Amino acid sequence: MPHPSFLARWLAVEPSAPALELDGQWTTHGDLRALGERVAGWLSEKGVRPGDRVCIQLENGRELVAAHLGCMALGAVRVPLNAHYRAAEVGPIVEDAAPRLVLAKDPSIYTGVTVCTEVGEGAPLREWPVPPGDVTCWLFTSGTTGRAKGTPQTWAMWEANLDALAARWALSPEDRLWLCLPLFHTHGLVLGLHGTLLRGASAVVSARFHPVLPPEGVTHFYGVPTYYRRWLDTMIAQPAAFQRLKLLVSGSDGLPAELSDAVYAATGHRVLERYGMTETVILASNPFHGERRAGTVGTPLDGMELRVEGGEVQVRGPSVFAGYEPRPDPSAFTADGWFRTGDAGEIDDAGYLRIIGRKKDLIIVGGVNVSPAEVEVHLAKVPGVAELGCCGLPDLDLNEIVACAVVADGTVPEDALRAALERAAKELSGLKRPRRYAFVAALPRNAMGKLQRGRIPGAVFSA
Ligand code: AMP
Repeated sequence: MPHPSFLARWLAVEPSAPALELDGQWTTHGDLRALGERVAGWLSEKGVRPGDRVCIQLENGRELVAAHLGCMALGAVRVPLNAHYRAAEVGPIVEDAAPRLVLAKDPSIYTGVTVCTEVGEGAPLREWPVPPGDVTCWLFTSGTTGRAKGTPQTWAMWEANLDALAARWALSPEDRLWLCLPLFHTHGLVLGLHGTLLRGASAVVSARFHPVLPPEGVTHFYGVPTYYRRWLDTMIAQPAAFQRLKLLVSGSDGLPAELSDAVYAATGHRVLERYGMTETVILASNPFHGERRAGTVGTPLDGMELRVEGGEVQVRGPSVFAGYEPRPDPSAFTADGWFRTGDAGEIDDAGYLRIIGRKKDLIIVGGVNVSPAEVEVHLAKVPGVAELGCCGLPDLDLNEIVACAVVADGTVPEDALRAALERAAKELSGLKRPRRYAFVAALPRNAMGKLQRGRIPGAVFSA
């Protein structure tokens, strides 16, 4: 049976090699393959066929990994969902993904779809087929339109990217990652889980990040700026535990140069910053060997081409996705076929890329993308609101938080309206909830009447 080349390589890894520590127990690569085949048998009994989509809304741990492996062995398409998502957030994704099955702990937030709250095992299926179009996963990413956008991910794009990263970061099968990033997001799922499998390496998987000492034997860590900020006191108190590590990586949001310097002063590690997105996987990175320039995200990965057009970073190459589904957006690509990142950047004289802002409306809270439009659409339904606009405000811990400027229609007292907005925000996952509200007479708009979110911080929250 023809496997995608990615899987063929993983299936050839020595079965007895240690793979993942899950829920405190070590598994080998052979154990994981056998687990995937048994879960594939169970999924098949549930009516899932190759090419069908399966939503996975689980926390990092054995069950989540089993669900992924089962889909991989069966050739089903995984649709990972943020474990904190509520009904208002999973609804549109389920509508777009039209899954055969949902694997999730809280069936009450789903309608019109079969939900299993436990991942089962059945008679093993040993085929590991190529899914239709080579699409192994759909990742939904917070769009600037408010509705999460489906990005089909192929085995080929992941393999190209992980090989280029392994070269840039000098990765090897002996590496052991501490994997705390959520596995519903590209960073943890592709770089963390699949990078570990492809290279026959190993990882300690934790449910979430806590700023404690890295587990014994770990050599690598991938995080977001907020993790490093929260870790700093531990690093200063016990630097030896960090000096043992080989590589610390940061991404998903800009790592402030002073934070990078503070980690360096405490541990002697220059955190390696890289830049990527769901649609492209990693597109630029600093090197393991060679100069890591703080405040830059490095140079394009092998095979990736980068340009800055009108201030916007644009990219093409083997790990760029083919387009959103099921709602294509032709404006995502330029006429000559480059993907438009929506990030503002500049390239320095040594070819290093610096991300200097965002041309797109996106708020990144603790490394997690939040679409202001999504929050606005949700909160605008609250009685008493005439209109509202959301923006990001700087925050020492999370880098950015969501803030909301509200124009009231005068029918509800301000205190009651604020309480109603806070209640409605609880229907969204925590990082999307505005931490600050302000009541204003009007929102900043341009001459065409379009909301100018970038002006809200200065116009409303600067006092
Ligand atoms: P996601 O698709 O969730 O990975 O989010 C991608 C977005 O995160 C990018 O378009 C950037 O806006 C931002 N991002 C990722 N890495 C970096 C970085 N190293 N520096 C600044 N922004 C970043």
